[in-house]
Amino acid sequence: MEPDNTIQRMIQALQEVHSENELILIITKSLEFLRGLWLKNRDSFNEEQIILLKRIAETEIIILTFINIKNNIKNIDNIDDFNRAISDLIIIYKKIQQFPIRKSVGKEIRSLRESFNELTESRQKRKIADIKMKIAQMEHKPPFCHNGHKMIIREGESGYFWGCHNFPKCFFTKELSKKERKFLFS
Ligand SMILES: [Zn+2]
Repeated sequence: MEPDNTIQRMIQALQEVHSENELILIITKSLEFLRGLWLKNRDSFNEEQIILLKRIAETEIIILTFINIKNNIKNIDNIDDFNRAISDLIIIYKKIQQFPIRKSVGKEIRSLRESFNELTESRQKRKIADIKMKIAQMEHKPPFCHNGHKMIIREGESGYFWGCHNFPKCFFTKELSKKERKFLFS
């Protein structure tokens, strides 16, 4: 009967179990048992079983990789790692898409994408807040227009520039210097 029973139990688990932790427990235990059997008596395995076991062992590694990525997701805090984790999970999804465990992988991909969007959004907000603060600092010591009015930083289609405070009565404008530009955007 063995190793057929154990192999069938693993195949059934792959086709029925939705939880990666439950699934890996069954597969790891079963493979361990069969490795012991293999060491004792190789002749009890036929060629077809060996091929099946190789495939299941590959699937075991894929599931373990998934669990590892999932456990480390909460530590991801930069765009490169997000992209890497998402593309790794997509590869995993494709490899196990005939099994119900794919749903768990799909769920992680969706939640990673959501967190990624939140991260880029909050970064953008922080950047805008930072620029506003720097503008306020620059306007604290403003240049003056030819008519002697204070200038303020305005935003036009081509970016930021100094414009007269008395606009539209006074049209005087001045480009930001290289230094000012660097201060604003670094
Ligand atoms: Zn002016």
